[in-house]
Amino acid sequence: METWRQIQKTNFTKREELARFLGIDPEIIFASPFPLNVPYRLAEKMEKGQLNDPLLMQFLPTHQEALKTPGFTADPVSDCSFQKSSRLLQKYQGRALLITTSACVMNCRFCFRQNYPYSSDKDLSQEIELIRNDPSLHEVILSGGDPLSLSDQRLQTLITALGDIPHLKLLRFHTRFPLGIPERITPAFLKILAGSRLQTIFVLHTNHPKELDPEVLAALKKIPAPLLTQTVLLKGINDSVDTLKSLFLTLASHGILPYYLHQFDRIEQGAHFEVPIAKGKQLLEMLKKELPGYAIPTYVQEIPHESSKTRL
Ligand code: SF4
Repeated sequence: METWRQIQKTNFTKREELARFLGIDPEIIFASPFPLNVPYRLAEKMEKGQLNDPLLMQFLPTHQEALKTPGFTADPVSDCSFQKSSRLLQKYQGRALLITTSACVMNCRFCFRQNYPYSSDKDLSQEIELIRNDPSLHEVILSGGDPLSLSDQRLQTLITALGDIPHLKLLRFHTRFPLGIPERITPAFLKILAGSRLQTIFVLHTNHPKELDPEVLAALKKIPAPLLTQTVLLKGINDSVDTLKSLFLTLASHGILPYYLHQFDRIEQGAHFEVPIAKGKQLLEMLKKELPGYAIPTYVQEIPHESSKTRL
Protein backbone atom coordinates (compact mmCIF):
# COMPACT_ATOMS: atom_id res chain seq x y z
CA MET A 1 0.00 0.00 0.00
CA GLU A 2 1.22 3.50 -0.84
CA THR A 3 2.64 5.49 2.09
CA TRP A 4 -0.03 8.18 1.80
CA ARG A 5 -2.79 5.58 2.07
CA GLN A 6 -1.22 4.26 5.27
CA ILE A 7 -1.00 7.80 6.63
CA GLN A 8 -4.66 8.35 5.73
CA LYS A 9 -5.57 5.45 8.00
CA THR A 10 -4.39 7.56 10.95
CA ASN A 11 -7.09 10.21 10.25
CA PHE A 12 -9.35 11.00 13.18
CA THR A 13 -12.82 9.64 12.39
CA LYS A 14 -14.07 8.87 15.91
CA ARG A 15 -15.22 11.77 18.03
CA GLU A 16 -13.96 10.32 21.32
CA GLU A 17 -10.46 9.97 19.89
CA LEU A 18 -10.32 13.49 18.49
CA ALA A 19 -11.79 14.90 21.72
CA ARG A 20 -9.18 13.06 23.80
CA PHE A 21 -6.36 14.19 21.53
CA LEU A 22 -7.42 17.84 21.65
CA GLY A 23 -8.63 17.92 25.26
CA ILE A 24 -12.20 18.90 24.38
CA ASP A 25 -15.60 17.59 25.48
CA PRO A 26 -16.79 14.81 23.09
CA GLU A 27 -20.40 15.88 23.72
CA ILE A 28 -19.91 19.04 21.69
CA ILE A 29 -19.10 16.96 18.59
CA PHE A 30 -22.25 16.46 16.52
CA ALA A 31 -22.94 12.98 15.14
CA SER A 32 -23.41 14.28 11.61
CA PRO A 33 -24.33 12.16 8.56
CA PHE A 34 -21.31 13.88 6.95
CA PRO A 35 -18.79 12.17 9.20
CA LEU A 36 -15.86 13.51 11.14
CA ASN A 37 -12.67 13.08 9.10
CA VAL A 38 -9.50 14.97 10.08
CA PRO A 39 -5.95 14.11 9.01
CA TYR A 40 -3.60 13.56 11.96
CA ARG A 41 -1.14 16.26 10.85
CA LEU A 42 -3.91 18.88 10.75
CA ALA A 43 -5.08 17.86 14.24
CA GLU A 44 -1.48 18.17 15.43
CA LYS A 45 -1.48 21.81 14.31
CA MET A 46 -4.65 22.62 16.27
CA GLU A 47 -4.29 24.36 19.62
CA LYS A 48 -5.28 21.97 22.41
CA GLY A 49 -8.54 22.78 24.16
CA GLN A 50 -9.25 25.74 21.85
CA LEU A 51 -12.64 25.44 20.18
CA ASN A 52 -11.99 28.62 18.21
CA ASP A 53 -8.83 27.25 16.60
CA PRO A 54 -9.21 28.16 12.88
CA LEU A 55 -8.27 24.66 11.76
CA LEU A 56 -10.53 22.87 14.24
CA MET A 57 -13.49 25.10 13.29
CA GLN A 58 -13.21 23.93 9.69
CA PHE A 59 -13.47 20.23 10.58
CA LEU A 60 -15.36 19.90 13.87
CA PRO A 61 -19.01 18.87 13.44
CA THR A 62 -20.99 20.97 15.92
CA HIS A 63 -24.66 21.02 16.88
CA GLN A 64 -25.03 24.25 14.87
CA GLU A 65 -25.19 22.00 11.80
CA ALA A 66 -28.65 20.83 12.88
CA LEU A 67 -30.11 24.35 12.87
CA LYS A 68 -32.36 25.20 9.94
CA THR A 69 -31.84 28.68 8.51
CA PRO A 70 -34.06 30.13 5.76
CA GLY A 71 -32.19 30.57 2.47
CA PHE A 72 -29.69 27.79 3.22
CA THR A 73 -30.29 24.62 1.20
CA ALA A 74 -29.00 21.10 0.54
CA ASP A 75 -27.63 22.00 -2.93
CA PRO A 76 -26.92 25.75 -2.87
CA VAL A 77 -25.10 25.84 -6.22
CA SER A 78 -27.70 23.65 -7.90
CA ASP A 79 -25.12 20.99 -8.85
CA CYS A 80 -27.83 18.46 -9.68
CA SER A 81 -29.34 20.70 -12.37
CA PHE A 82 -26.06 20.61 -14.32
CA GLN A 83 -25.67 16.85 -14.55
CA LYS A 84 -24.85 15.39 -17.94
CA SER A 85 -24.52 12.15 -15.99
CA SER A 86 -24.31 11.52 -12.25
CA ARG A 87 -20.56 12.16 -12.45
CA LEU A 88 -20.23 14.82 -15.13
CA LEU A 89 -21.45 18.39 -14.59
CA GLN A 90 -21.33 21.23 -17.06
CA LYS A 91 -21.87 24.70 -15.64
CA TYR A 92 -19.88 26.86 -18.06
CA GLN A 93 -19.15 26.95 -21.76
CA GLY A 94 -16.19 24.80 -22.84
CA ARG A 95 -15.55 23.26 -19.43
CA ALA A 96 -16.92 20.15 -17.76
CA LEU A 97 -16.44 18.98 -14.19
CA LEU A 98 -15.81 15.34 -13.49
CA ILE A 99 -16.85 14.04 -10.08
CA THR A 100 -14.03 11.53 -9.87
CA THR A 101 -14.80 10.23 -6.38
CA SER A 102 -16.82 10.97 -3.26
CA ALA A 103 -13.77 10.55 -1.05
CA CYS A 104 -11.80 13.38 0.56
CA VAL A 105 -8.79 13.39 2.80
CA MET A 106 -10.69 15.69 5.15
CA ASN A 107 -14.36 16.50 5.61
CA CYS A 108 -14.81 20.28 5.65
CA ARG A 109 -17.94 21.31 7.49
CA PHE A 110 -18.68 24.13 5.06
CA CYS A 111 -18.44 21.95 1.93
CA PHE A 112 -21.20 22.79 -0.55
CA ARG A 113 -21.06 19.28 -1.97
CA GLN A 114 -21.55 17.38 1.29
CA ASN A 115 -25.10 16.34 0.31
CA TYR A 116 -24.29 15.43 -3.31
CA PRO A 117 -25.83 12.10 -4.39
CA TYR A 118 -22.49 10.46 -5.21
CA SER A 119 -22.64 7.38 -7.40
CA SER A 120 -21.00 4.26 -5.97
CA ASP A 121 -20.02 3.20 -9.49
CA LYS A 122 -16.27 3.71 -10.07
CA ASP A 123 -16.41 3.31 -13.84
CA LEU A 124 -15.95 6.63 -15.66
CA SER A 125 -16.26 5.26 -19.22
CA GLN A 126 -19.71 6.81 -19.77
CA GLU A 127 -18.32 10.22 -18.76
CA ILE A 128 -15.25 9.82 -21.02
CA GLU A 129 -17.60 9.07 -23.93
CA LEU A 130 -19.74 12.13 -23.18
CA ILE A 131 -16.59 14.30 -23.19
CA ARG A 132 -15.30 12.67 -26.37
CA ASN A 133 -18.61 13.33 -28.13
CA ASP A 134 -18.70 17.02 -27.24
CA PRO A 135 -16.11 18.96 -29.29
CA SER A 136 -17.17 22.23 -27.62
CA LEU A 137 -15.28 21.14 -24.50
CA HIS A 138 -11.68 22.26 -24.17
CA GLU A 139 -11.15 21.66 -20.44
CA VAL A 140 -11.97 18.99 -17.89
CA ILE A 141 -11.90 19.80 -14.20
CA LEU A 142 -11.16 16.85 -11.94
CA SER A 143 -13.09 17.37 -8.76
CA GLY A 144 -15.03 15.30 -6.27
CA GLY A 145 -14.63 14.66 -3.47
CA ASP A 146 -10.94 15.09 -4.06
CA PRO A 147 -9.36 13.66 -7.22
CA LEU A 148 -6.12 12.96 -5.36
CA SER A 149 -8.06 10.34 -3.36
CA LEU A 150 -7.74 8.14 -6.45
CA SER A 151 -4.75 5.84 -6.71
CA ASP A 152 -1.94 6.83 -9.07
CA GLN A 153 -2.93 3.91 -11.26
CA ARG A 154 -6.52 5.09 -11.63
CA LEU A 155 -5.34 8.65 -12.25
CA GLN A 156 -2.97 7.39 -14.93
CA THR A 157 -5.80 5.56 -16.71
CA LEU A 158 -8.10 8.57 -16.48
CA ILE A 159 -5.53 11.14 -17.58
CA THR A 160 -4.42 8.96 -20.49
CA ALA A 161 -8.05 8.57 -21.64
CA LEU A 162 -8.62 12.32 -21.44
CA GLY A 163 -5.33 13.03 -23.23
CA ASP A 164 -6.56 10.88 -26.12
CA ILE A 165 -9.51 13.20 -26.75
CA PRO A 166 -8.21 15.59 -29.42
CA HIS A 167 -10.40 18.62 -28.61
CA LEU A 168 -9.28 18.76 -24.95
CA LYS A 169 -6.49 21.21 -24.16
CA LEU A 170 -6.60 21.73 -20.41
CA LEU A 171 -6.83 19.50 -17.38
CA ARG A 172 -7.56 21.14 -14.07
CA PHE A 173 -7.25 19.59 -10.60
CA HIS A 174 -9.28 20.96 -7.72
CA THR A 175 -7.73 19.57 -4.58
CA ARG A 176 -7.20 20.09 -0.88
CA PHE A 177 -5.37 16.80 -0.39
CA PRO A 178 -1.74 18.04 -0.05
CA LEU A 179 -2.73 20.15 2.98
CA GLY A 180 -3.78 17.02 4.85
CA ILE A 181 -1.20 14.57 3.53
CA PRO A 182 1.61 16.21 1.53
CA GLU A 183 3.08 12.75 0.96
CA ARG A 184 0.31 12.34 -1.66
CA ILE A 185 2.54 14.22 -4.12
CA THR A 186 4.43 11.05 -5.01
CA PRO A 187 7.14 10.67 -7.69
CA ALA A 188 4.71 8.39 -9.57
CA PHE A 189 2.02 11.07 -9.55
CA LEU A 190 4.48 13.73 -10.75
CA LYS A 191 5.51 11.42 -13.57
CA ILE A 192 1.88 11.00 -14.66
CA LEU A 193 1.45 14.77 -14.79
CA ALA A 194 4.66 15.29 -16.69
CA GLY A 195 3.64 12.64 -19.24
CA SER A 196 0.28 14.17 -20.11
CA ARG A 197 -0.30 15.96 -23.41
CA LEU A 198 -2.78 18.27 -21.68
CA GLN A 199 -1.76 21.50 -19.99
CA THR A 200 -2.39 20.86 -16.32
CA ILE A 201 -3.54 23.55 -13.89
CA PHE A 202 -3.67 22.93 -10.15
CA VAL A 203 -6.18 24.77 -7.99
CA LEU A 204 -5.49 24.24 -4.32
CA HIS A 205 -8.27 24.98 -1.85
CA THR A 206 -6.73 26.66 1.21
CA ASN A 207 -8.41 28.83 3.81
CA HIS A 208 -5.89 29.64 6.52
CA PRO A 209 -2.12 30.23 6.77
CA LYS A 210 -1.86 27.48 9.43
CA GLU A 211 -2.58 24.98 6.65
CA LEU A 212 0.65 25.96 4.90
CA ASP A 213 3.65 24.57 6.75
CA PRO A 214 7.12 23.98 5.21
CA GLU A 215 6.37 20.33 4.37
CA VAL A 216 3.15 21.25 2.56
CA LEU A 217 4.84 24.07 0.68
CA ALA A 218 7.74 21.80 -0.30
CA ALA A 219 5.31 19.22 -1.70
CA LEU A 220 3.43 21.89 -3.66
CA LYS A 221 6.69 23.19 -5.08
CA LYS A 222 7.22 19.86 -6.86
CA ILE A 223 4.03 20.09 -8.92
CA PRO A 224 5.01 20.72 -12.55
CA ALA A 225 2.02 22.96 -13.36
CA PRO A 226 0.73 26.46 -12.65
CA LEU A 227 -0.58 26.51 -9.10
CA LEU A 228 -3.54 28.70 -8.16
CA THR A 229 -5.72 28.75 -5.07
CA GLN A 230 -9.28 29.19 -4.01
CA THR A 231 -10.32 30.25 -0.53
CA VAL A 232 -13.75 30.31 1.06
CA LEU A 233 -14.45 33.32 3.25
CA LEU A 234 -15.44 31.80 6.60
CA LYS A 235 -16.69 33.54 9.74
CA GLY A 236 -14.32 33.27 12.68
CA ILE A 237 -11.75 31.43 10.56
CA ASN A 238 -10.33 33.83 7.98
CA ASP A 239 -12.58 36.92 7.99
CA SER A 240 -9.85 39.34 9.07
CA VAL A 241 -7.34 41.39 7.10
CA ASP A 242 -4.43 39.97 9.06
CA THR A 243 -5.36 36.34 8.37
CA LEU A 244 -6.09 36.86 4.68
CA LYS A 245 -2.97 38.97 4.23
CA SER A 246 -0.84 36.29 5.84
CA LEU A 247 -2.46 33.56 3.73
CA PHE A 248 -2.12 35.36 0.39
CA LEU A 249 1.37 36.65 1.10
CA THR A 250 2.58 33.17 2.09
CA LEU A 251 1.11 31.75 -1.11
CA ALA A 252 2.52 34.46 -3.39
CA SER A 253 5.95 34.24 -1.80
CA HIS A 254 6.01 30.54 -2.70
CA GLY A 255 5.02 31.17 -6.30
CA ILE A 256 1.36 30.21 -5.79
CA LEU A 257 -1.20 32.73 -7.02
CA PRO A 258 -4.44 33.39 -5.12
CA TYR A 259 -7.17 33.00 -7.72
CA TYR A 260 -10.62 33.12 -6.11
CA LEU A 261 -11.99 34.19 -2.75
CA HIS A 262 -15.43 32.59 -2.64
CA GLN A 263 -18.43 34.01 -0.91
CA PHE A 264 -19.86 31.17 1.19
CA ASP A 265 -22.20 28.85 -0.71
CA ARG A 266 -25.30 28.62 1.47
CA ILE A 267 -25.26 24.95 2.39
CA GLU A 268 -27.98 24.16 4.91
CA GLN A 269 -25.60 22.79 7.56
CA GLY A 270 -23.31 25.83 7.45
CA ALA A 271 -25.19 29.09 8.12
CA HIS A 272 -22.82 29.82 11.03
CA PHE A 273 -19.91 30.16 8.57
CA GLU A 274 -21.38 32.93 6.43
CA VAL A 275 -19.69 36.34 6.29
CA PRO A 276 -21.82 39.21 4.89
CA ILE A 277 -20.81 40.27 1.37
CA ALA A 278 -20.38 43.88 2.54
CA LYS A 279 -17.72 42.72 5.00
CA GLY A 280 -16.01 40.65 2.31
CA LYS A 281 -15.82 43.71 0.07
CA GLN A 282 -14.37 45.80 2.91
CA LEU A 283 -11.70 43.16 3.53
CA LEU A 284 -10.74 43.17 -0.15
CA GLU A 285 -10.47 46.98 -0.16
CA MET A 286 -8.17 46.85 2.86
CA LEU A 287 -6.06 44.09 1.30
CA LYS A 288 -5.58 46.20 -1.84
CA LYS A 289 -3.70 48.72 0.30
CA GLU A 290 -1.40 46.05 1.68
CA LEU A 291 -0.65 43.56 -1.10
CA PRO A 292 0.36 43.64 -4.76
CA GLY A 293 -2.48 42.97 -7.20
CA TYR A 294 -1.22 39.50 -8.13
CA ALA A 295 -1.50 38.40 -4.50
CA ILE A 296 -5.15 39.37 -4.21
CA PRO A 297 -7.77 36.88 -5.41
CA THR A 298 -10.99 37.86 -7.18
CA TYR A 299 -13.91 37.88 -4.75
CA VAL A 300 -16.67 35.81 -6.39
CA GLN A 301 -19.99 34.20 -5.75
CA GLU A 302 -21.42 31.22 -7.57
CA ILE A 303 -24.93 32.06 -8.72
CA PRO A 304 -26.46 29.00 -10.40
CA HIS A 305 -27.11 29.32 -14.15
CA GLU A 306 -25.01 32.47 -14.60
CA SER A 307 -22.51 32.13 -17.47
CA SER A 308 -19.52 32.51 -15.13
CA LYS A 309 -18.76 33.13 -11.46
CA THR A 310 -20.14 36.53 -10.39
CA ARG A 311 -17.50 39.08 -9.33
CA LEU A 312 -18.43 40.90 -6.15
S1 SF4 B 1 -11.86 18.66 0.51
FE1 SF4 B 1 -13.18 19.87 -0.85
S2 SF4 B 1 -14.74 18.45 -1.60
FE2 SF4 B 1 -13.76 17.52 0.21
S3 SF4 B 1 -15.03 18.09 1.95
FE3 SF4 B 1 -13.41 19.63 1.79
S4 SF4 B 1 -14.31 21.26 0.52
FE4 SF4 B 1 -15.58 19.43 0.23
